[in-house]
Amino acid sequence: MGGPAGREERRAPGAPGGVEVDLVDAHVHVFPPEIIRDRDAYRRRDGWFDRLYESPEARMATADDVVAQMEGAGVCLSLIFGFAFKDQGLCRMVNDYVLDSVKAHAGRLAGLACVSPEYPGAAAELERCLDAGLRGCGELAPDGQGFGEAWTGARGPVRDSISGIAGCLRERDLPLLVHANEPVGHHYPGKGNFTPEACLALAQAHPELKIVFAHLGGGLFLYELMPEVRRTLADVHYDTSAVPYLYGPQVYAAAVASAGYGKLIFGSDYPLLPAGRYLEGLESLPLPARAAVQAGNARKVFRI
Ligand SMILES: [Zn+2]
Repeated sequence: MGGPAGREERRAPGAPGGVEVDLVDAHVHVFPPEIIRDRDAYRRRDGWFDRLYESPEARMATADDVVAQMEGAGVCLSLIFGFAFKDQGLCRMVNDYVLDSVKAHAGRLAGLACVSPEYPGAAAELERCLDAGLRGCGELAPDGQGFGEAWTGARGPVRDSISGIAGCLRERDLPLLVHANEPVGHHYPGKGNFTPEACLALAQAHPELKIVFAHLGGGLFLYELMPEVRRTLADVHYDTSAVPYLYGPQVYAAAVASAGYGKLIFGSDYPLLPAGRYLEGLESLPLPARAAVQAGNARKVFRI
Protein backbone atom coordinates (compact mmCIF):
# COMPACT_ATOMS: atom_id res chain seq x y z
CA MET A 1 0.00 0.00 0.00
CA GLY A 2 1.05 3.59 0.27
CA GLY A 3 0.39 5.04 -3.18
CA PRO A 4 2.57 5.62 -6.15
CA ALA A 5 4.84 8.24 -4.62
CA GLY A 6 8.41 7.06 -4.03
CA ARG A 7 9.38 6.28 -0.48
CA GLU A 8 12.72 7.99 -0.71
CA GLU A 9 13.19 11.71 -0.91
CA ARG A 10 13.25 12.95 -4.46
CA ARG A 11 14.26 16.12 -6.26
CA ALA A 12 11.41 18.55 -6.64
CA PRO A 13 10.91 19.42 -10.30
CA GLY A 14 11.94 22.97 -11.05
CA ALA A 15 13.62 23.43 -7.70
CA PRO A 16 17.31 22.87 -8.29
CA GLY A 17 18.92 21.75 -5.10
CA GLY A 18 15.50 21.66 -3.40
CA VAL A 19 14.32 18.36 -2.06
CA GLU A 20 10.78 17.15 -1.78
CA VAL A 21 10.09 14.70 1.01
CA ASP A 22 7.08 12.40 1.15
CA LEU A 23 4.38 13.51 3.55
CA VAL A 24 2.19 10.93 5.27
CA ASP A 25 -0.43 12.48 7.55
CA ALA A 26 -1.03 10.02 10.38
CA HIS A 27 -3.62 11.96 12.39
CA VAL A 28 -6.78 12.92 10.48
CA HIS A 29 -10.34 12.96 11.86
CA VAL A 30 -13.30 12.21 9.59
CA PHE A 31 -17.04 12.06 10.16
CA PRO A 32 -19.84 10.64 8.07
CA PRO A 33 -21.96 13.37 6.42
CA GLU A 34 -24.94 12.61 8.68
CA ILE A 35 -22.98 13.47 11.84
CA ILE A 36 -21.75 16.71 10.28
CA ARG A 37 -25.29 17.56 9.21
CA ASP A 38 -26.81 16.79 12.62
CA ARG A 39 -23.86 17.90 14.69
CA ASP A 40 -26.03 19.39 17.47
CA ALA A 41 -28.00 16.17 17.92
CA TYR A 42 -24.75 14.21 18.34
CA ARG A 43 -23.45 16.84 20.75
CA ARG A 44 -26.33 15.94 23.03
CA ARG A 45 -25.32 12.26 22.89
CA ASP A 46 -21.68 12.60 23.94
CA GLY A 47 -20.16 14.99 26.46
CA TRP A 48 -16.63 14.91 25.04
CA PHE A 49 -17.87 15.43 21.49
CA ASP A 50 -19.97 18.32 22.78
CA ARG A 51 -16.95 19.91 24.40
CA LEU A 52 -14.82 19.66 21.27
CA TYR A 53 -17.45 20.62 18.72
CA GLU A 54 -19.47 23.12 20.72
CA SER A 55 -17.88 26.00 18.86
CA PRO A 56 -19.19 26.39 15.31
CA GLU A 57 -15.56 27.23 14.43
CA ALA A 58 -14.48 23.64 15.17
CA ARG A 59 -14.22 22.18 11.69
CA MET A 60 -15.38 18.72 10.65
CA ALA A 61 -14.45 16.88 7.46
CA THR A 62 -15.71 13.93 5.45
CA ALA A 63 -13.26 11.48 3.92
CA ASP A 64 -13.92 13.10 0.53
CA ASP A 65 -12.97 16.49 1.99
CA VAL A 66 -9.71 14.97 3.21
CA VAL A 67 -8.86 13.44 -0.16
CA ALA A 68 -9.78 16.66 -2.00
CA GLN A 69 -7.14 18.70 -0.15
CA MET A 70 -4.36 16.12 -0.03
CA GLU A 71 -2.70 16.89 -3.33
CA GLY A 72 -2.57 20.64 -2.68
CA ALA A 73 -1.14 19.98 0.78
CA GLY A 74 1.47 17.58 -0.63
CA VAL A 75 0.13 14.66 1.42
CA CYS A 76 0.48 11.30 -0.33
CA LEU A 77 -1.30 9.16 2.28
CA SER A 78 -3.67 10.03 5.13
CA LEU A 79 -4.44 7.87 8.14
CA ILE A 80 -8.07 8.60 8.98
CA PHE A 81 -10.21 7.79 11.99
CA GLY A 82 -13.43 8.97 13.59
CA PHE A 83 -14.00 10.20 17.09
CA ALA A 84 -13.62 8.47 20.45
CA PHE A 85 -17.30 8.37 21.36
CA LYS A 86 -18.21 6.79 24.66
CA ASP A 87 -21.10 4.97 23.00
CA GLN A 88 -19.81 1.89 21.21
CA GLY A 89 -22.69 2.13 18.70
CA LEU A 90 -21.48 5.54 17.56
CA CYS A 91 -17.91 4.27 17.32
CA ARG A 92 -19.14 1.40 15.17
CA MET A 93 -21.11 3.71 12.91
CA VAL A 94 -18.03 5.84 12.25
CA ASN A 95 -15.80 2.75 11.87
CA ASP A 96 -18.11 1.54 9.09
CA TYR A 97 -17.68 4.90 7.39
CA VAL A 98 -13.87 4.74 7.77
CA LEU A 99 -13.84 1.21 6.34
CA ASP A 100 -15.92 2.28 3.32
CA SER A 101 -13.76 5.36 2.77
CA VAL A 102 -10.49 3.45 2.92
CA LYS A 103 -11.88 0.99 0.38
CA ALA A 104 -13.07 3.80 -1.90
CA HIS A 105 -9.70 5.58 -1.78
CA ALA A 106 -7.27 2.69 -1.60
CA GLY A 107 -3.67 3.88 -1.70
CA ARG A 108 -4.66 7.42 -0.58
CA LEU A 109 -6.31 6.58 2.74
CA ALA A 110 -5.59 4.08 5.49
CA GLY A 111 -7.60 3.97 8.70
CA LEU A 112 -7.80 3.23 12.41
CA ALA A 113 -10.77 1.94 14.43
CA CYS A 114 -12.24 3.82 17.38
CA VAL A 115 -13.69 1.72 20.18
CA SER A 116 -14.98 2.51 23.65
CA PRO A 117 -12.80 0.43 26.01
CA GLU A 118 -15.35 0.36 28.84
CA TYR A 119 -17.85 -1.47 26.63
CA PRO A 120 -17.70 -5.29 26.72
CA GLY A 121 -17.79 -5.50 22.90
CA ALA A 122 -14.82 -3.19 22.35
CA ALA A 123 -12.23 -5.86 21.54
CA ALA A 124 -14.65 -7.68 19.21
CA GLU A 125 -15.37 -4.45 17.34
CA LEU A 126 -11.65 -3.79 17.03
CA GLU A 127 -11.09 -7.31 15.66
CA ARG A 128 -13.83 -6.78 13.12
CA CYS A 129 -12.18 -3.59 11.88
CA LEU A 130 -8.64 -4.99 11.83
CA ASP A 131 -9.88 -8.06 9.94
CA ALA A 132 -11.32 -5.66 7.38
CA GLY A 133 -7.96 -3.91 6.95
CA LEU A 134 -7.74 -1.04 9.45
CA ARG A 135 -4.26 -0.46 10.84
CA GLY A 136 -4.70 -0.02 14.58
CA CYS A 137 -6.91 1.60 17.20
CA GLY A 138 -7.47 5.27 17.95
CA GLU A 139 -7.44 8.09 18.60
CA LEU A 140 -8.86 7.03 21.96
CA ALA A 141 -9.73 9.70 24.54
CA PRO A 142 -9.04 8.52 28.11
CA ASP A 143 -10.90 11.43 29.68
CA GLY A 144 -13.83 11.47 27.29
CA GLN A 145 -14.32 7.70 27.29
CA GLY A 146 -13.77 7.31 31.01
CA PHE A 147 -10.96 4.78 30.99
CA GLY A 148 -8.16 7.14 31.94
CA GLU A 149 -8.51 6.77 35.68
CA ALA A 150 -6.61 3.51 35.66
CA TRP A 151 -3.53 5.53 34.74
CA THR A 152 -4.13 8.94 36.24
CA GLY A 153 -3.92 7.03 39.51
CA ALA A 154 -4.80 8.77 42.74
CA ARG A 155 -7.94 6.71 43.45
CA GLY A 156 -6.32 3.38 44.16
CA PRO A 157 -6.35 0.25 42.01
CA VAL A 158 -8.65 0.53 39.00
CA ARG A 159 -9.59 -2.02 36.38
CA ASP A 160 -7.42 -1.95 33.26
CA SER A 161 -10.12 -1.73 30.65
CA ILE A 162 -7.78 -1.67 27.67
CA SER A 163 -6.26 -5.11 28.23
CA GLY A 164 -8.62 -6.78 25.70
CA ILE A 165 -7.82 -4.20 23.05
CA ALA A 166 -4.12 -4.33 23.86
CA GLY A 167 -4.04 -8.11 23.39
CA CYS A 168 -5.75 -7.86 20.04
CA LEU A 169 -3.29 -5.18 18.84
CA ARG A 170 -0.22 -6.98 20.17
CA GLU A 171 -1.17 -10.15 18.30
CA ARG A 172 -1.24 -8.21 15.05
CA ASP A 173 1.65 -5.89 15.80
CA LEU A 174 -0.52 -2.82 15.30
CA PRO A 175 -0.54 0.32 17.45
CA LEU A 176 -2.88 2.09 19.83
CA LEU A 177 -3.13 5.86 19.32
CA VAL A 178 -4.05 7.74 22.49
CA HIS A 179 -4.85 11.40 23.09
CA ALA A 180 -2.51 13.07 25.58
CA ASN A 181 -2.13 16.50 27.15
CA GLU A 182 0.49 18.80 28.59
CA PRO A 183 0.22 19.19 32.39
CA VAL A 184 0.97 22.93 32.02
CA GLY A 185 0.03 25.81 29.74
CA HIS A 186 -3.19 27.27 28.41
CA HIS A 187 -6.54 25.55 28.56
CA TYR A 188 -8.39 24.43 25.41
CA PRO A 189 -11.39 22.21 24.71
CA GLY A 190 -10.18 18.62 24.92
CA LYS A 191 -7.41 19.34 27.40
CA GLY A 192 -7.80 16.68 30.07
CA ASN A 193 -5.88 14.75 32.70
CA PHE A 194 -4.01 12.31 30.49
CA THR A 195 -0.59 13.84 30.98
CA PRO A 196 2.93 12.36 30.64
CA GLU A 197 2.63 10.61 33.99
CA ALA A 198 -0.49 8.74 32.89
CA CYS A 199 1.04 7.96 29.48
CA LEU A 200 4.07 6.43 31.17
CA ALA A 201 1.87 4.35 33.50
CA LEU A 202 -0.08 3.02 30.53
CA ALA A 203 3.11 2.12 28.66
CA GLN A 204 4.45 0.46 31.79
CA ALA A 205 1.33 -1.69 32.16
CA HIS A 206 1.51 -2.81 28.50
CA PRO A 207 5.20 -3.27 27.74
CA GLU A 208 4.77 -5.14 24.45
CA LEU A 209 2.13 -2.86 23.03
CA LYS A 210 3.03 -0.33 20.32
CA ILE A 211 1.59 2.99 21.46
CA VAL A 212 1.48 6.33 19.68
CA PHE A 213 0.75 9.23 22.01
CA ALA A 214 -0.87 12.14 20.21
CA HIS A 215 0.17 15.76 20.67
CA LEU A 216 3.79 14.80 21.48
CA GLY A 217 2.58 12.83 24.48
CA GLY A 218 1.97 16.07 26.36
CA GLY A 219 5.76 16.48 26.56
CA LEU A 220 6.62 12.90 27.57
CA PHE A 221 9.34 12.81 24.89
CA LEU A 222 11.59 14.91 27.12
CA TYR A 223 11.75 12.15 29.74
CA GLU A 224 13.23 9.76 27.21
CA LEU A 225 16.49 11.34 28.36
CA MET A 226 16.07 9.40 31.61
CA PRO A 227 17.48 5.92 30.94
CA GLU A 228 14.87 3.95 32.89
CA VAL A 229 12.01 5.91 31.33
CA ARG A 230 13.48 5.37 27.89
CA ARG A 231 13.47 1.61 28.49
CA THR A 232 9.80 1.71 29.47
CA LEU A 233 9.00 3.75 26.36
CA ALA A 234 10.81 1.44 23.95
CA ASP A 235 7.61 0.82 21.92
CA VAL A 236 6.21 4.32 22.24
CA HIS A 237 6.00 6.94 19.48
CA TYR A 238 4.72 10.52 19.49
CA ASP A 239 2.68 12.28 16.87
CA THR A 240 2.91 15.97 16.06
CA SER A 241 -0.82 16.73 15.98
CA ALA A 242 -1.75 20.24 17.18
CA VAL A 243 1.91 21.23 17.69
CA PRO A 244 1.48 24.69 16.07
CA TYR A 245 -1.20 25.47 18.67
CA LEU A 246 0.96 24.36 21.57
CA TYR A 247 4.67 24.90 20.90
CA GLY A 248 7.13 26.95 18.90
CA PRO A 249 8.56 25.27 15.78
CA GLN A 250 11.79 24.46 17.65
CA VAL A 251 9.95 21.66 19.46
CA TYR A 252 10.59 19.20 16.59
CA ALA A 253 14.33 19.55 16.99
CA ALA A 254 13.93 19.26 20.78
CA ALA A 255 11.87 16.07 20.43
CA VAL A 256 14.36 14.60 17.98
CA ALA A 257 17.21 15.48 20.33
CA SER A 258 15.59 13.82 23.34
CA ALA A 259 13.66 10.86 21.88
CA GLY A 260 15.41 10.36 18.53
CA TYR A 261 13.91 10.91 15.09
CA GLY A 262 12.69 7.33 14.86
CA LYS A 263 10.02 8.14 17.45
CA LEU A 264 8.28 11.12 15.91
CA ILE A 265 5.34 10.74 13.53
CA PHE A 266 3.83 13.55 11.50
CA GLY A 267 0.10 14.04 12.03
CA SER A 268 -1.83 17.26 11.40
CA ASP A 269 -5.09 16.72 13.32
CA TYR A 270 -6.82 17.83 10.09
CA PRO A 271 -9.27 19.55 9.79
CA LEU A 272 -8.20 21.28 13.02
CA LEU A 273 -5.04 22.34 11.19
CA PRO A 274 -3.82 21.81 7.64
CA ALA A 275 -0.55 19.95 7.02
CA GLY A 276 1.07 23.13 5.67
CA ARG A 277 1.05 24.72 9.14
CA TYR A 278 3.66 22.21 10.28
CA LEU A 279 6.17 22.57 7.50
CA GLU A 280 8.10 25.53 8.86
CA GLY A 281 9.28 23.49 11.82
CA LEU A 282 9.71 20.19 9.98
CA GLU A 283 11.85 21.80 7.27
CA SER A 284 14.40 22.73 9.88
CA LEU A 285 15.17 19.05 10.59
CA PRO A 286 18.13 17.41 8.83
CA LEU A 287 16.98 15.40 5.81
CA PRO A 288 17.12 11.85 7.21
CA ALA A 289 15.18 12.96 10.30
CA ARG A 290 12.67 14.81 8.17
CA ALA A 291 12.08 11.82 5.89
CA ALA A 292 11.52 9.57 8.91
CA VAL A 293 9.20 11.98 10.73
CA GLN A 294 7.19 12.96 7.65
CA ALA A 295 6.65 9.46 6.28
CA GLY A 296 9.01 6.61 7.19
CA ASN A 297 8.05 6.21 10.83
CA ALA A 298 4.30 6.19 10.15
CA ARG A 299 4.74 3.60 7.39
CA LYS A 300 6.69 1.41 9.76
CA VAL A 301 4.54 1.74 12.89
CA PHE A 302 1.14 1.48 11.19
CA ARG A 303 2.48 -0.82 8.45
CA ILE A 304 0.94 1.32 5.71
ZN1 LIG B 1 -6.16 14.33 20.32
